[in-house]
Amino acid sequence: PFQHGEVFVTEDGAETDLDLGHYERFTNTTMKRSNNFTTGRVYNAVLRKERRGDYLGGTVQVIPHVTDEIKRRVVLGAGDADVAVVEIGGTVGDIEGLPFLEAARQLKVEMGSSRALLMHLTLVPFIATAGEIKTKPTQHSVKELRALGLQPDILLCRCTVDIEESARQKISLFTNVEERAVIPLIDADSIYRIPGMLRGFGLDDFVVERFGIDCPPADLSEWDEVVEREFSETSGEVRVAMVGKYMDLLDAYKSLNEALAHAGLQTLTTVRIDHIDAEDIERNGTGVLESADAILVPGGFGDRGIEGKITAVQYARENNIPFLGICLGMHVALVEYARHVCALEGAHSTEMDSHTPHPIVGLITEWANADGSTEQRDESSDKGGTMRLGAQPCHLDKDSMVRRIYGHDTIEERHRHRYEVNNNYLDQLCGAGMKVAGWSADRSLVEMVELPDHPWFIACQFHPEFTSRPRGGHPLFTSYIEAAIKHRGGNVA
Ligand code: GLN
Repeated sequence: PFQHGEVFVTEDGAETDLDLGHYERFTNTTMKRSNNFTTGRVYNAVLRKERRGDYLGGTVQVIPHVTDEIKRRVVLGAGDADVAVVEIGGTVGDIEGLPFLEAARQLKVEMGSSRALLMHLTLVPFIATAGEIKTKPTQHSVKELRALGLQPDILLCRCTVDIEESARQKISLFTNVEERAVIPLIDADSIYRIPGMLRGFGLDDFVVERFGIDCPPADLSEWDEVVEREFSETSGEVRVAMVGKYMDLLDAYKSLNEALAHAGLQTLTTVRIDHIDAEDIERNGTGVLESADAILVPGGFGDRGIEGKITAVQYARENNIPFLGICLGMHVALVEYARHVCALEGAHSTEMDSHTPHPIVGLITEWANADGSTEQRDESSDKGGTMRLGAQPCHLDKDSMVRRIYGHDTIEERHRHRYEVNNNYLDQLCGAGMKVAGWSADRSLVEMVELPDHPWFIACQFHPEFTSRPRGGHPLFTSYIEAAIKHRGGNVA
C-alpha cells in the first residue's frame, strides 16, 4: 500500500492494481484476472514454458518469446469485447516497458491501422512564473516512441491550464499527430467530468471514425447527472472518521474513499472523510472522534494501531455513532464486543496475539474450494496467494437490517483475508446482543454482524467498496451515510 496504493480485488479473485478499480467504476464492466498482467507474470509463463520444453530447447529471447506472451495476454484479456482498451503502465523510456511497447508495435502491424489505435498520454507543464506552458516534454516523449517504431494516433496532453490552439498546432507539427487528435486533458475539479470533457474535444468521434464504427452519438447523460449531483446544493456535510493505518497515503483506501463519495452523490450530501491514524487514538484518546457523524474501521493487516481501532469501535458503540467495520474492521468490532460486553478479558484475533485466551478471530485450518479441493492453512502458510479472495455469496438473515438495506436474501461481495470469526464464541457474542446477519454460502462462516440495539452498527467480512459505482452507488454505503445524516440531526433527502 505504501508504494502502489490499494490492492484492488476483482470478482474472480485477482489482486490487482488500483487502476482496475477505476476502469470498473468508469465503464461499469466487471474486470477479470485476465484484465491485468505484470512483467513478473509474463516471465513466469515464459520460464515455465521453457522448462516444459515448449520451445524445444531453442534459445529463449525477449523478442519473440516475451513479446509473444504479452500479445497472447492482450488478446486473451480482450476476450469477446468489441473494443479493448489496453493500458501500458509506466513511462516511455523505462527499461521495464520496452518489451510491452515492442509487443504493441507488433500488434498494431498485425491488426492493421483500421483496427488498432495508439493513444499516448503526455505531460504539458505550466510554468507559473513565466505564465506559459511547455510542449517540449510532449515532443520529446513522442520522439522516444517513434524511435521504437510507434507513431501515436492520439495525444492526451495533461495540463493544469487550457492548451491554446497555437500550442496544439505546434505539438501536432512536431509529433506528426493530427491537430484534432491533440487533446488537452485539463485538471478537473471532479474526475467524473473527464468523460464529458474528452467528448467536448471530439475524442470519441475521432476513435469511432478511425475504426469505421457505425454508431449513434454517445449518451453521456448518466455522467452529466453524476456531475450535477456532485455540484448541486447539497443537503449539508457529514464527517466520517476513518480510523486506519496508512493515513498519509490516501490511495491505500482508494475504493473506500470513492464508495463514500458515491454515497454522498446518492444522498446529495458532502461526505468529508477525516483520515485518522489509529495510533493517534492510542496516544491521545478519542478527542479526534468528537466531531464524527460516523466512524469507519477499514480492512488492514498487522497489529499496528490495533488498540486504537478497538477504542474507536467502543466509542462508536457506546455513543450510538453509526459504525461500519470492513474485514479487519469486523474483527476489531467483535474483539471489542467480546472484551467490553462479554467480559472476555484479553480477547483478540490470533493475527495479533497468537496466545490470546479468547481467540474471537483465528485461522481456520482448512476449507473446501469451489473446485472441490481442500485448502490447508496455518501460520506458516505462504503470505502470498493464500487468502480467501474474490466474490462469494452471502446469505442475509431475513430479519436483519442488512437484508432491508440490500433488498435481497443473497448478495455477492468480494473477499481478501485469511482470518475468520471463531464460531465457538458465537453463543456468547450473540447471547450478549450481537447478531450474525450474514453467512457464507455453506452457512459455516460469519460474513456480516450487526447490533440491533444501536442505530447503525454493521460490520462485514468482505469489502463492499470494490463494487460501489459513481452511477448507482452501493446500498450499504448509501445507508451508512443516511445514518450519518440522521446522527447529525439532518433529514435524509
Ligand atoms: N488481516 C485480516 C485477515 O487477513 C483482515 C484482512 C483485511 O482486512 N482485508 O483476515
